[in-house]
Amino acid sequence: MRIAMIGGGYVGLVSGACFAEFGSDVAIVERDPKKLAALRDGRIPIYEPGLDAIVSKNVETGRLTFGDDLATAVNGADAVFIAVGTPTRRGDGHADLTYVYAATKEIALAAKNGLLVVTKSTVPVGTGREVARILKETRPDLTFDVASNPEFLREGNAIGDFMRPDRVIIGIDTSGPDEGERATRIMREVYRPIHLIEAPIVITDLETAELTKYAANAFLAMKVTFINEMADLCEKVGGNIHDVARGMGLDQRIGQRFLHAGPGYGGSCFPKDTRALTAIARDAGAPSRLVEATVEVNENRKSRMAERIIAQAGGSIQGKTVGVLGLTFKPDTDDMREAASLPILTHLHEAGALIQAFDPEGMEPARELLPTDITYCSDALEAATDADILVVLTEWNVFRAIDPERLRNAMRGNAIADLRNIWSPDTMRAAGFDYSSIGRR
Ligand code: NAD
Repeated sequence: MRIAMIGGGYVGLVSGACFAEFGSDVAIVERDPKKLAALRDGRIPIYEPGLDAIVSKNVETGRLTFGDDLATAVNGADAVFIAVGTPTRRGDGHADLTYVYAATKEIALAAKNGLLVVTKSTVPVGTGREVARILKETRPDLTFDVASNPEFLREGNAIGDFMRPDRVIIGIDTSGPDEGERATRIMREVYRPIHLIEAPIVITDLETAELTKYAANAFLAMKVTFINEMADLCEKVGGNIHDVARGMGLDQRIGQRFLHAGPGYGGSCFPKDTRALTAIARDAGAPSRLVEATVEVNENRKSRMAERIIAQAGGSIQGKTVGVLGLTFKPDTDDMREAASLPILTHLHEAGALIQAFDPEGMEPARELLPTDITYCSDALEAATDADILVVLTEWNVFRAIDPERLRNAMRGNAIADLRNIWSPDTMRAAGFDYSSIGRR
């Protein structure tokens, strides 16, 4: 199978490398000259554990190539996957489909008869049909199929998620003369190794596949937001959110995952996908009140977290030094998109805090998104040095192992706001800290 992958970002690069590992020939098309130069140079432009090994192995065998020439990649392909970004459109919360439709037009101009065009990006219901319409309008002579194949990988565990997924969702347009038979065959072939390990492959229609992705992300975002509210309640009435989450999660109908209380969800998917789903639902006349509430509660939580840090610092943070551990939206990634650290640190900065931060992978992208006078440190202890208060924003494993005594000696003050619950309250209090965490008194 010959595959063209449009977009070499987190999803395109991982999916492309894994499809090559599955045995397909994959041409990744990336338009960002810096990313492309890195890839051609044998460097991975993002931080994703295990990705470099799988990329270099498949580049060596010749199954994986990189370029910026979409026409050549598409012209030789049986299937083309669109894996470009779908950020929030300014103003109304909808997904911005500019990149998807621009790629579709280019694909149409280069396509050969029989091409299968697959949206892997997260796209609103109706996008697959619009892709088909654009293909037809641009090339009335062309015979083609469209499919939807939303991606569920998690950054930080992307290779494992792609190679051993909980499920693969494939939406097929069955309105053509062969009722989607050829498209189904190609998709089954591309995912053959997944079939062999008996991971479920759900084959459905375009709209259902598109909606499934948003529904899944919104549900997870809601789960996180729910446990955050329960953590707030624990703080008021007494209770330990870890035990509440464990007690709830052991019920198999609920499940343990995504029940970690924290500063509110962020990242490249949940915020934009929950916003997009509320816009889709509103436009369709079936507003989703639960998802709307999730978006609002999560949004407000970030400023509440900042206020809480200020309160712990004695009511004013003006001129005080805040040490920050972690910037990325979660550990094991360098992705800073909509990370909780952005609104929280901007709020503290505006309130007059002097911020010194350390993150193992996120400092370079953070520099472009945070106020310019933040100091970036070379390790956690440096970030803690002379700090009046220390704030934990991302639960990188390396932070868990820090010796509390050394931390205490490095800091000027003794306040810690652990917004990820990485340390035990007893240990930290015994070490002399004024320690606060989420949902644990
Ligand atoms: P990204 O920004 O990391 O990657 C998109 C890439 O596409 C960029 O490198 C951009 O330069 C490139 N691009 C845009 N237009 C192009 C064109 N015409 N030709 C060639 N390259 C082009 O985004 P991402 O995180 O990989 O997300 C892509 C999609 O996958 C989004 O819809 C997202 O919601 C979805 N998704 C992301 C994740 C995740 O964890 N990041 C998980 C599941 C689904």
